[in-house]
Amino acid sequence: MTDTRIQKKGDSFEQDQFLTILSREDALARFEAALFPRAIASEGRSLADALGQALATDIVSLIDVPPFDRSNVDGFALRSADLALAGEATPIRFVLNDEIIACGTAPVQIVSSGTATSIATGGPVPRGADAIAMVEHTQPVGERAIEIRRTASPGQFVSYAGSDIARGETLLRAGTVIGSREIGMLAACGIAEVSVARRPRVAVISTGDELVQPGLPLRPAAIYDTNGAIVTAAIRENGGEPVFLGAIPDVESELEATMREALDSCDMLVLSGGTSKGTGDVSHRIIARLGEPGIIAHGVALKPGKPLCLAVCDGKPVVILPGFPTSAMFTFHDMIVPVLRRMASLPSRADAKVAAKVPVRIASEIGRTEFVMVSLVEGADGLIAYPSGKGSGAITSFAQADGFLRINALANQISAGTETEVTLFTPHVRVPDLVIVGSHCTGLDLVTAPLARASLAVRSISIGSLGGLAAARRGECDLAPIHLLDEATETYNAPFLVDGLELIPGWRRMQGIVFRADDTRFEGMNAQEAVRAALADPTCIMVNRNQGAGTRILIDRLLGAARPDGYWNQPRSHNAVAAAVAQKRADWGMTIAPVAHAARLGFIPLAEEHYDFALVTARKQRPAVQAFLASLASDESRVALTRAGFRPA
Ligand code: AMP
Ligand code: MG
Repeated sequence: MTDTRIQKKGDSFEQDQFLTILSREDALARFEAALFPRAIASEGRSLADALGQALATDIVSLIDVPPFDRSNVDGFALRSADLALAGEATPIRFVLNDEIIACGTAPVQIVSSGTATSIATGGPVPRGADAIAMVEHTQPVGERAIEIRRTASPGQFVSYAGSDIARGETLLRAGTVIGSREIGMLAACGIAEVSVARRPRVAVISTGDELVQPGLPLRPAAIYDTNGAIVTAAIRENGGEPVFLGAIPDVESELEATMREALDSCDMLVLSGGTSKGTGDVSHRIIARLGEPGIIAHGVALKPGKPLCLAVCDGKPVVILPGFPTSAMFTFHDMIVPVLRRMASLPSRADAKVAAKVPVRIASEIGRTEFVMVSLVEGADGLIAYPSGKGSGAITSFAQADGFLRINALANQISAGTETEVTLFTPHVRVPDLVIVGSHCTGLDLVTAPLARASLAVRSISIGSLGGLAAARRGECDLAPIHLLDEATETYNAPFLVDGLELIPGWRRMQGIVFRADDTRFEGMNAQEAVRAALADPTCIMVNRNQGAGTRILIDRLLGAARPDGYWNQPRSHNAVAAAVAQKRADWGMTIAPVAHAARLGFIPLAEEHYDFALVTARKQRPAVQAFLASLASDESRVALTRAGFRPA
């Protein structure tokens, strides 16, 4: 057993954190071995309420469907032998019986030779008749007779009793998941209630002092509880019945009481957060007291998701998902969904998969199965899978991604150009109409809004100006938004274009110094004066930008050789700079005017940056590209951009 364990190397603190890391496969196998086989509880459900659940028993029909020999057409019930000599030149005449068999009318009269009875589609075939002549193939002769010029075979247009479903036939097998078609079959047999595998009741608890439920105001240093909503929805999607118990602070007694209550009333318990073995993390200590055998795996070789904790307490699965929402979501889908579906008697998920090439090298840690979210775009020869650039704390990467790829625990990378398998989040690939790869700007959302209204799918992948240009050169996108200053010529963007690309002017963004509006140190100054004042005050802390950002070039020019406190704080976005200043982590930094104004900060303008688009000329005539160019030039977009603080070119 120990051969599959990977002994965690590292310092003693780390060893204390996760003594034994199990491989993904080993952890799942042990978890399942501790839970299965198990009795599956069943419950009676009315047809409408059984949707999506698995049948607990075989269903045998107690009746024939149809219950009687039935006419398939509107026409006349008659004896086929009477038509043996019928032909174009030899019409056969039938006297009509004094009866019309509508749907739901039981026939009374016998059809004797030479007579016929009018019958509707779905009407029961009367005694004596063995075939139906379609009304279209008959001619009326007065009120009381018809003529027919073609023969009929016995059984023509008759559905015999039990021909669809025979009494005693097994209609549906135990384990069948009930969809609308199954509901239709059950209804046809008159079955109003079925026995189904009971949906496992799954208690959901978020843990953390910092969590606030969506809809309530956010206090300082708090964040919204994301996992509660994710896990609740994912449980419902996979056949469980979630019972959300809220976010509980990291207080051992309070958490233990809630966990015990949850296990009393539910079949399974899923917590999130607090799974490291830090002092504030108490859930795993509580689990050890909740029942046998207790913790089965604490630390799994997954990325994201290493701190996952799997336990079984007196037969009930208890899970602690990692706190970061994307980690929580991946581990839930990969490790918990298989168990939940088995408990609900549902088949394992059949996620759609597609082949796609990765355009860039993706580094990976050896020893952990790694999941990388990707966005798909159409390349010259097949799909391209762009890894989503954000860290494990980023929830939006889920919404923007089309699926994920899995990197084997033993691989240390996927090299650029490798063909990989992408597991889709949706049943089918949705290839976007317009692909924008490069530097992101909130102004972009304003310009693409009319495209979305016209049902054009826009995919915007933010990987920075240089990454966007490379993608445009490879023909993987329609447009690359860029803001690159060529220092030699002091011009933006145009010097960076190559053959096959053309420059579409976008808008200007005023860059400037931000400070808290009530900070009098910078009052009435221009940018140079403000930086001089900041450098003169040793208590004044700055926030910088990352190497490679256009903003960083401007900051470095202002600072010269100076390296004030805060210089090494180098976030990657305009908004992070504004947040650092607004929350007093820093006193000044540089960002763009719209972001400064949205954060209600003081702003000293410095220089305008050009945010333009490198357009792949070969794709210019595509309808979505034309729609984008039209929107960019429209009054609507120009007004919206101006209102948001940008200056359309
Ligand atoms: P923890 O494992 O509790 O240390 O959490 C790791 C990270 O995930 C921290 O940044 C937490 O604030 C965050 N986190 C934990 N639980 C949630 C949750 N329910 N929703 C959103 N973020 C969470
Ligand atoms: Mg926590």
